[in-house]
Amino acid sequence: MVMGSLPERTDLVVIGAGVGGYIAAIRGAELGMSVVLVEKEKLGGHCLNYACIPSKTLLNISKMYFEMRNSEKFGIRAQNATLDPKKMYQWRMDVSGKLESGVGFLCKSNGVEVVKGSAVFLSDSKLQLSNGTEIDFSKAIIATGSEPTALSSFPFGPDVLDYKRALMLDYIPKSMSIIGAGYVAVETATLFARLGTQVNIIARSKLLRTFDQEAVEVVKESLQKLGVKIYEGAAPASKQGNTITLDNGTTITQDALVVAVGLSPYTTGLGLENTTVMRDGKGFIKVDEALRTSNQNIFAIGDVIGEPMLAHKAMRQGVVAAEAAYGMSSAYDNIVVPAVVFSEPEMAIAGTLEGDSIEITKFPMSAIGRAIAMDKKPGFVKIAHTKGGIVKGIEIVAEDAGNLIAEAALAIELGATIEDIADTIHPHPTYTEAIQEAAEAALGRPIHFFYGKQNNKK
Ligand SMILES: Cc1cc2nc3c(=O)[nH]c(=O)nc-3n(C[C@H](O)[C@H](O)[C@H](O)COP(=O)(O)OP(=O)(O)OC[C@H]3O[C@@H](n4cnc5c(N)ncnc54)[C@H](O)[C@@H]3O)c2cc1C
Repeated sequence: MVMGSLPERTDLVVIGAGVGGYIAAIRGAELGMSVVLVEKEKLGGHCLNYACIPSKTLLNISKMYFEMRNSEKFGIRAQNATLDPKKMYQWRMDVSGKLESGVGFLCKSNGVEVVKGSAVFLSDSKLQLSNGTEIDFSKAIIATGSEPTALSSFPFGPDVLDYKRALMLDYIPKSMSIIGAGYVAVETATLFARLGTQVNIIARSKLLRTFDQEAVEVVKESLQKLGVKIYEGAAPASKQGNTITLDNGTTITQDALVVAVGLSPYTTGLGLENTTVMRDGKGFIKVDEALRTSNQNIFAIGDVIGEPMLAHKAMRQGVVAAEAAYGMSSAYDNIVVPAVVFSEPEMAIAGTLEGDSIEITKFPMSAIGRAIAMDKKPGFVKIAHTKGGIVKGIEIVAEDAGNLIAEAALAIELGATIEDIADTIHPHPTYTEAIQEAAEAALGRPIHFFYGKQNNKK
């Protein structure tokens, strides 16, 4: 598919139309550059078609289904509500389809030439497309993303699913084992457990080990309530048919096996060996603050340059790289990249809770009127600040934490103090009040929670 006639040379070529790439292409076109965007699969890349959006679409359906069947306490009798997995699958596919065509529309409207096919570097200034066309470019942005990391002892195949295939099932497996300890494993477990699948998580390390373990405990408790069995500190050793044996001797039988042990940079077939672009020992492309690679004219963004491998990071980098390619002095100098786990309840963090002179105050969600009304009491907000009151980090474990964390990210980027947050009027009744209350408690003036005579705020 070529939306327009393909030029022999272009100011900017972007390889990969994931969330990083298409945003870079649009920003480049807004600045007046001629832009070619090459994509070998689907516009929107993994995020819109296989990962973020499908998983959140399905998580939402599973949440509605689970809550509907468990709403008797509110006077709703829907215990026998049923689910049509084929319709659920259709909805998930339609959502991705709508977003993909939306990206196509935005590219076309901005004058971006979209080319369907793979791109291979022939040199530091020339690309070849899969139809044989060659394009000379002044600047290039590599946005080729990542691929699921395979386990050598459990290679992906018909009975070992990667995250893409796990999010494309049009049936509900009776049982599922998920090998992995990160957010993808937790979100996939939450999704299927709510749909009635008996889920096992096999985590070589601790579950979500890079997150605050007090927050992880809340999520683990809720997973266990959903019937999820968590095997921590165990690795799968062998597989015989539908049964896997762990290295501690435990055997588990499941209908579906998912491997979700991480993401690896994707540069297969890109021809980087024909360029002066350098990679690190793990295969991630090395870049500087302006996202420029070891070649002045080639930039790289998103998952292919490494952690954090998150869509919103790729999006911001898309803007920065396009501006830097245009000649602006833009830099990827953001202080925070919020991270969200779409678990039950959601868990989100912006900034850090760690540091020598950092003080932390915790405020429980169970003291928030909205949380009581909605029966969403588990969780808390933690606010971390310097002695001078500057906010360094906020963690939220609560219903809708993924939306709430945006306030935290903005506060930290702006250098806000706990007083700024405490004195800002937050709408009532909302979960956002927990952020304000945490800030008030940090100032020693808590209202809706009594911390005891010792005033222990941790
Ligand atoms: C299950 C799951 C859920 C996730 N949920 C979230 C979430 O909720 N929030 C979040 O922030 N992040 C989430 N992520 C991470 C997120 O999906 C990635 O960080 C994001 O997609 C990275 O974007 P990208 O533009 O770097 O690459 P991608 O989205 O991977 O896009 C790269 C594109 O490049 C194309 N391409 C590759 N090589 C070539 C070539 N040679 N020629 C032409 N095209 C090429 C590919 O086909 C692909 O479309 C999730 C990941 C997984 C696995």
